[in-house]
Amino acid sequence: MAGYGCPGCGYVYDEATGEPREGFSAGTLWQQIPDDWTCPDCAVREKLDFQPTGAN
Ligand SMILES: [Zn+2]
Repeated sequence: MAGYGCPGCGYVYDEATGEPREGFSAGTLWQQIPDDWTCPDCAVREKLDFQPTGAN
């Protein structure tokens, strides 16, 4: 499982835990996230702006 971080606010999407408040259950892979998804914390950065955290 990998993590992807928002370069704007530091929010990290972790595939292992998903993001239930956004409708992504635990284990949802990054590639399954819609390309037009925006950061749930700052709503400024989009999926394509996120950077791999390097975990695992
Ligand atoms: Zn953000």
